[in-house]
Amino acid sequence: MMTRRRFIKIFCALPLFVCLPGLAESITGVATLKDGYARRLKKILAAGDLPYIDIESSCNSRKLDIEFVAKRMDRLNIGLMALSADIGHGQFRDGVVFDPLSERLLASYPDRFIPVGNGGQSPALTEATDSFLDAQEAAVRDRKILLLGEYEFRHYPSPRQVKRGELDRDVQLPIDGPIGHRVFSFSEKTGVPFQIHYEIEDELLAPLEQMLAQYPKARVIWCHLAQIRYIERASRYTPTYVEALLNRFPNLYFDTAFGDANSIYPLSNQRHARVWANDGALLPAWRDLIAACPSRFLSALDLGGDRIERIVEYDQNHRNFLKRLPAQVQHQVAYRNAWSLLFGEEFA
Ligand SMILES: [Zn+2]
Repeated sequence: MMTRRRFIKIFCALPLFVCLPGLAESITGVATLKDGYARRLKKILAAGDLPYIDIESSCNSRKLDIEFVAKRMDRLNIGLMALSADIGHGQFRDGVVFDPLSERLLASYPDRFIPVGNGGQSPALTEATDSFLDAQEAAVRDRKILLLGEYEFRHYPSPRQVKRGELDRDVQLPIDGPIGHRVFSFSEKTGVPFQIHYEIEDELLAPLEQMLAQYPKARVIWCHLAQIRYIERASRYTPTYVEALLNRFPNLYFDTAFGDANSIYPLSNQRHARVWANDGALLPAWRDLIAACPSRFLSALDLGGDRIERIVEYDQNHRNFLKRLPAQVQHQVAYRNAWSLLFGEEFA
């Protein structure tokens, strides 16, 4: 007969989303959320439209117009959104290390927002590392969030920051440094996925591979498939390379937040969304890769605090990508993969 101690030991070796016996109430909460999410996705599907789960968008919670986003999601048939709060300098000065935006979102619209932690970026991540990560991890343990991120390990200034002359967001945190080990290790122990922003450069690939090898159960979403800002720095990153990574690391995912074919990264003057041909077609090698590994790619818009109001344009851009995939794969990338990643079961 199994002892209670042995039972708990086995129970807690499972990913967090199926365990933690002391948190039955929270698990009931997740089950209720799941019911609402499923109803919403099925309603959009029944109307003949394709819903998707935006796994990666962010905002400034102090400026967010929740009603605006919720209404646009309805109009655009966006199924669910993981809308993360970035902790800005103002909030940080006020002592904020955890922004409970997800609770506010769920209080108003429990059927469309996925509770997610805060953006892992400066200043909170870099200047108050332990208290920031303690708070994110506590929120996971309390079942207040189902996902972590996006953590910025290597991040060039964004195109909009370049336009505003804000060149200070040139982030370089070693992925195999203390923060990387803590986040990978936490994900491995709990089963909770996390997103990384990690620019594509030849010399950055080996440390990431080493971390994926060291933490094979960490569930990593590498954001922005094939977004290469400086092609001369990224000779190794090809569809063949990505396929080899996916084959080696079964818990690695990619999100598909990238610009359209004409999007230019201003600091290099290059078209940084490398999945596109110059004529706007999806390059066959990238399409074939997604079709060959259809369970490993996720829909994402990458809305941000300075571009939430452009949700219609971002939606059109993303749908222009989705429609170029084989029909069945569209459904996997759009919502099925995110569903199984978050809930450990197929969407049914
Ligand atoms: Zn990013």
